[in-house]
Amino acid sequence: MIVVMQTGSTQEQIESVLERLAEYDLRGHMVYGAERTVIGVVGAAIPPTLKEELEHFTGVKETLRITQPYKLVSRELRPMDTIVDVRGVKVGGERCVVIAGPCSVETEEQIMATARAVREAGASMLRGGAFKPRSSPYTFRGLGELGLKLLAQARDETGLPIVTEVMTINDVDLVARYADVLQIGARNMQNYQLLEEVGRTGMPVLLKRGLSATIEEWLLSAEYVTAQGNPNVILCERGIRTFETATRNTMDLNAVALAKRRTHLPVIADPSHGTGKWYLVPPLALASIAAGADGIIIEAHPDPDRARSDGGQSLSLENFAKLMPQVAAVAAALGKRI
Ligand code: PEP
Ligand code: MN
Repeated sequence: MIVVMQTGSTQEQIESVLERLAEYDLRGHMVYGAERTVIGVVGAAIPPTLKEELEHFTGVKETLRITQPYKLVSRELRPMDTIVDVRGVKVGGERCVVIAGPCSVETEEQIMATARAVREAGASMLRGGAFKPRSSPYTFRGLGELGLKLLAQARDETGLPIVTEVMTINDVDLVARYADVLQIGARNMQNYQLLEEVGRTGMPVLLKRGLSATIEEWLLSAEYVTAQGNPNVILCERGIRTFETATRNTMDLNAVALAKRRTHLPVIADPSHGTGKWYLVPPLALASIAAGADGIIIEAHPDPDRARSDGGQSLSLENFAKLMPQVAAVAAALGKRI
């Protein structure tokens, strides 16, 4: 439920609504918009009489039920787009952000060469995994803290904010010391304790959609993070499992457009994991932007054939540079810049 305050309502009037909510063990989540102040009511059990009760409070204009199961991330609560600020790079506004980098951080030379090249080509953030969720335990699982240090070194030189995955609650403090954006991987989308832990950091979180998660489940996972008082969630569509085996995943662009409509959170797309094939990445990157994505995250590597993970879906640095003017052109067609 949301409580819409009258324009010009006082802090005291807001407080009295919040106090009444507390009496019912409910919390009020404030949303200050340009035109209206809204209180989102969150908690396990909202008494059926509360709606009418609050409508009689002075300063309250109306109360409305939120029809979706997710509340804080819902557009019904907040019609305006949320903009997540990552060290000055604004995700969700007029920009179409491009995050690029290798699947895994492998060596100093590899990450530095990639960071310089993607920056030169116009990327606004650097990605790279230090802790890698791999289907097989016998494959490369990341450099761990060394990988984080190399990412920080690349940020120091290029100024690009870094996006990297955190896989367990135990590693949240460590990864948060280096990262600018904490990535929650597809396989962890429903690790609710991890979601709460990254929520408590207050840091920007990139939440990938689970391999077989519905859009509603994905948005409910985002709700776990925001319910901890952290509004800085960036959703990321990365392809889902379907009957199709010709591509690694099926890039669900419906989800990009629908998530933009259902939530106020920024939504980006990952055509690298979405397709699994480097030559399909450019067309799907452009299609993602056309579908309304606020940005794309792309795997790029100086030598994809020798990459220790996801080489087959990684763009060479040359191909990444070739793609960027096309990304800028599609973004410009929608009134955005990269
Ligand atoms: C990745 O970004 O390299 C990754 C492991 O992604 P996902 O969690 O979407 O599979
Ligand atoms: Mn990868």
